[in-house]
Amino acid sequence: MSLDLNTVDAVCDGVDRDRLLRTAVELVDVPSPTRSAAQVSDHLANRLTDAGFEVSRAEAGWPESPAVIARMSTGRPGRTLQFNGHLDTVHLPFVPARVAEGKLHGSGASDMKGGLAAAVEAMCVLRDLDVLPGGGVLLTAHDLHEAPWGDGSQVEGLIDEGFIGDGVLLPEYLCDRLPVVGRGLALFETSVKRDGQPVHEVLGGSDQPSVIHAGAELLRQLRQLDQQLAEKTHPLAGRESLFVGQVHSGEIFNQAPVELALEGTRRWLPGTSFGEAETQFNEILQQVSDAENVQVEGGLQLTRDAFEIAREDPLVTSFQAAHGQVTNKVLPLGAKPFVDDGNCFVQRGGIPAITHGPNAVGAHTVDEVVPVDELVRVARVYALTALAFCGVEQT
Ligand SMILES: [Zn+2]
Repeated sequence: MSLDLNTVDAVCDGVDRDRLLRTAVELVDVPSPTRSAAQVSDHLANRLTDAGFEVSRAEAGWPESPAVIARMSTGRPGRTLQFNGHLDTVHLPFVPARVAEGKLHGSGASDMKGGLAAAVEAMCVLRDLDVLPGGGVLLTAHDLHEAPWGDGSQVEGLIDEGFIGDGVLLPEYLCDRLPVVGRGLALFETSVKRDGQPVHEVLGGSDQPSVIHAGAELLRQLRQLDQQLAEKTHPLAGRESLFVGQVHSGEIFNQAPVELALEGTRRWLPGTSFGEAETQFNEILQQVSDAENVQVEGGLQLTRDAFEIAREDPLVTSFQAAHGQVTNKVLPLGAKPFVDDGNCFVQRGGIPAITHGPNAVGAHTVDEVVPVDELVRVARVYALTALAFCGVEQT
């Protein structure tokens, strides 16, 4: 994948640091905890309209804050590159935007209003210079991303309604690798219950089915499952796993409780389906329930499925070429350590997705900080990726 060097320079020089920062500050300054992104979505839509883009809105299952959709088309054949971001932030006290020593602070600065502002800037540069040989760019921004307040359903709605390009970039704060694979994730909140009331050990308690012993058996079997899963590995993404992070039961030392609760995660690799993982898990719950005379409830809840994209995919080669021009470095191929909406674009939308954003810190804290240089870098990488990706007719 080669890029014309004069155009590369023009694009890199064309990224307007002040305009980018202004967009980021404005987005951060409109509070938007998950489920309440309406105001910031309206703001972004107005800003994109003022900038001359074709803007529309789609409820995508969440009329409270319709998603923002902006397009820039050359009118010539070619691929469409999508930039997708979430406008909602985690539910922590609001921190307004502040710029100090070349860094932007504030709610969503890292996750991910800063990155989204960089994507907007990339679109503006491509429009200003009119350098895309064909195809176009599609920008989508939505609510309902951050768990547990959001369920990821608005981006699913956008995908289902066809608001997708031929490849998508997501500006989450990951920049040390090119994530071509990611494990799937499901959570479980499982409870072991017996009939009746809590009762003193010597007043019949010791005759009750023990939810604690049944829980111990359940834990033993889950550990055994985890040991089996350790054999399923991927060179980049590591192993499958069953992880238990919390167990609770009992009130005092000589009372038979009625419930034991445990919580954890199940992660799987491409090639394993969520359905398989679910069946395997439920079989263990059923077995313990039958053997220990208790009820075991609460199976796996899917967060996002596993994904893998081809290393020779045009999005991957275009992105790598763009990244090389901006940083003089080749990003090592790697795994995405977390799940994000990119998994959903691959699995549900059938398009390649790359998560790449600024080297930012403090996501999910009240101390989000992103260097402005990083936002500029991301804007350049995004614009050049479009340059390499869009100008070719999709086969
Ligand atoms: Zn995020």
